[in-house]
Amino acid sequence: MIELFNIKTIDDVDIQNKRILVKVDWNILNLHDGTSLLDTRKVDDTLHTLQFLLEKGNRLICVSHISKTKGRDPMRSIKPVANYIQSKMGQYVVKVIDDFLDPQQAQTFSNQHNNEILVLENIRYYPEEKKNDPEFVRKLSSLAEVYVNDAFSADHREHASVVGPTQYLPSYAGFSLKAEVESLGKCIKNPDKPLTFIVGGSKISTKTDLVRKVMSKADTIVLGGALANTFLHAQGHAMGKSLYEQDQIETAKEILNDAQHQSCTIILPFDVVAAAPDSDDVGDVYQIDRIPENTSALDIGPETIKKIQDIIQSSRTIVWNGPVGFFEKEAFKKGTDSIYEAMTQAQSATTIIGGGDTLTAIKNKQNQDKISHISTGGGAMLTFIEKGTLPGIEALIAAQSHS
Ligand code: ADP
Ligand code: MG
Repeated sequence: MIELFNIKTIDDVDIQNKRILVKVDWNILNLHDGTSLLDTRKVDDTLHTLQFLLEKGNRLICVSHISKTKGRDPMRSIKPVANYIQSKMGQYVVKVIDDFLDPQQAQTFSNQHNNEILVLENIRYYPEEKKNDPEFVRKLSSLAEVYVNDAFSADHREHASVVGPTQYLPSYAGFSLKAEVESLGKCIKNPDKPLTFIVGGSKISTKTDLVRKVMSKADTIVLGGALANTFLHAQGHAMGKSLYEQDQIETAKEILNDAQHQSCTIILPFDVVAAAPDSDDVGDVYQIDRIPENTSALDIGPETIKKIQDIIQSSRTIVWNGPVGFFEKEAFKKGTDSIYEAMTQAQSATTIIGGGDTLTAIKNKQNQDKISHISTGGGAMLTFIEKGTLPGIEALIAAQSHS
């Protein structure tokens, strides 16, 4: 049961020997080469759900998207991910269905053995997916007798495979969806205080709604990364060649002003590592009012790091989304790394980390088990914190209230 929403999970009902459409977010293909995989957490988190359903004799049909797909494209195939599933589920046979709409595939579905896991090709090969096309939803739903949603990180999208099958099939939540909603839900509804949000990343325009929303709940919001540059610029600092968003300056001013009226402290960097952009320059530390004209602020500086460590240490709940520097380059990952380390050391606090690039930044780092919850949701996590719910969750609620 997901108590927060009163949604039944797959262990609240007895589902046996059924054909089940399992919505997953296995969008972990490296889009640069079309074959290698990024961090496998999104897949690994769903294996428990698959295993649980398989052990009850159910036949699974898994559906996922791969992002940045325009029509059928071998560089966007689900196959490399299916191979990974196969390596994890040795006792089953994993088969990719090239086109589930092809009438010749009908036999594959009707003959599916319960040791076979069918994986539909990248569902975004079909333009109907993003359009939530009703006829497409009907065909997709007709493959199965039950629908299970275990795709928190896709649940902010009103796409066919996310919100559609709930109209036709008894629908339940999987285990990873439950874990995500419970951890994040507690933070929104009833966080232990002081509550600190750390928001980094490249663009404030993608995170203004989040910052505005959390302002009323958080004691402190720490802003870092390129998005902090927009705020620093708004405060009148000369940011040299740093990335910032000119059209967000007024928004940044408003946010700073609003925070003063709601007892929320916004912390901006007071020193940065700045370097000549697009070069091998590893940069130097500068106070925020001394950034040289020909450089770009690419990481937070040591005094800012120290301040953030202190804030983390004195918080009871810390939620972090967005790298605070150009972490992809060794010279500018110190700020991001030190936030991660400070969070792993905050053992009496609830710590939550999420975001696509944020997870890349902490990939392969030690002590991940010391973080209370690592969310696979990027956009979904932000939307969930802002709105308190997601379309995929609402679709489950609607389906269960009818049944
Ligand atoms: P997430 O996916 O975790 O939400 P974002 O997509 O918002 O994070 O932002 C991540 C990107 O922001 C990374 O590619 C990182 O290099 C970039 N970034 C962060 N700080 C800076 C900076 N000071 N200058 C340039 N890029 C930055
Ligand atoms: Mg990102």
